[in-house]
Amino acid sequence: MKNKIYIYAGYIIQLPDVGIYKKSTDWKEYIIMKKLYKKIGRKLTALVLVAAVGSAAVYFGGTRAIENVIESSVIKQPYEPPIIILDAGHGGMDGGCSSVNGTPEKGINLNILLHLRELLRINGYTVEVTRDTDRSIHDDGVEGIANQKSSDMDNRLELFNKYDNAICLSIHQNQFTDPAYSGAQMFYSNQVKGSSALAQSIQDAFVSQLQPENTREIKLCGEELFLCYFCENPTVMVECGFLSNPYEAALLESEEYQQKVAFTIFCGLQNYLASLI
Ligand SMILES: [Zn+2]
Repeated sequence: MKNKIYIYAGYIIQLPDVGIYKKSTDWKEYIIMKKLYKKIGRKLTALVLVAAVGSAAVYFGGTRAIENVIESSVIKQPYEPPIIILDAGHGGMDGGCSSVNGTPEKGINLNILLHLRELLRINGYTVEVTRDTDRSIHDDGVEGIANQKSSDMDNRLELFNKYDNAICLSIHQNQFTDPAYSGAQMFYSNQVKGSSALAQSIQDAFVSQLQPENTREIKLCGEELFLCYFCENPTVMVECGFLSNPYEAALLESEEYQQKVAFTIFCGLQNYLASLI
C-alpha cells in the first residue's frame, strides 16, 4: 500500500493513499482501512490542535517576553555614562622620576593623558583633566615648595571628587633601582567599590595588547597614594612602565608608544564600563 505524504504546519504526515482504499474490492481490507483512516484522522486532528495551541503559546509567550523586555527597560534607570577625570602625575616644578636618558616623568604622563583625552572625547565621553600643560595646580599665593605640593594634591583630589558619577585615572611612570624591572602595573585602593575591577581590566588590556610577558598583579595601595586612597570614585593609578629600564624608557619616550599606551588604557576602561551594563 502506498502512502501519501502531506506537509502541514511544518509536520510531515504520511497517510494511506485514499485512491487505493477507494478502489479496493476487498471488504476486509476496506474495513481495516476505514478504521485506520479514522484513527489517523483523529490523530491528524489532535496534531493540528497541538500545532495550533503550540503556535499560539509561542506567539503569546513571545509577546509576553517582548513586553517583559520593554517593561524592564522602562523600569531600569537609563545608562548614564560616567565623567572621566584624568590626571597627569606631577608637573611644573615637580618632574616626578627621570628616565635613564634624563627625561622627566611629567611630560610622558601629560602626553599619554592628551592622547587618552582625545580618544575618550571622540567616543563621546565628557572628560576633565587636572592639567593639560606642564604646570603645578596649586592655589595662587601659596608659598614654599612643600605647601605648593600640598595645595596641588588637594586640588587634584577636589576634581577627582567633584562628581558622583566619575571614573578617575592618574597616569604615572615607575622607577626602580634594578634596571631589569619593566611592565605596567595598576594600583587601586579598597575604599571604593569598582576600583579593583577597573585596575584589573586595565592591567588585562596591557597584557593582551602591549605586554604579553607582563605577569604583574594589580596592587592594593594605602594612604601613601593620596589621590587613589582618598578619591570617592573608582580610581586607578596607572603606572605605565619603568623609566629605569632602558628598553622601556625608550619606548615610553616615543610618541607612537605613548599613543599605544593611551589606547590600551582606553580599552581597559571601555571593558570595565561594558561589564557594568
Ligand atoms: Zn609619578
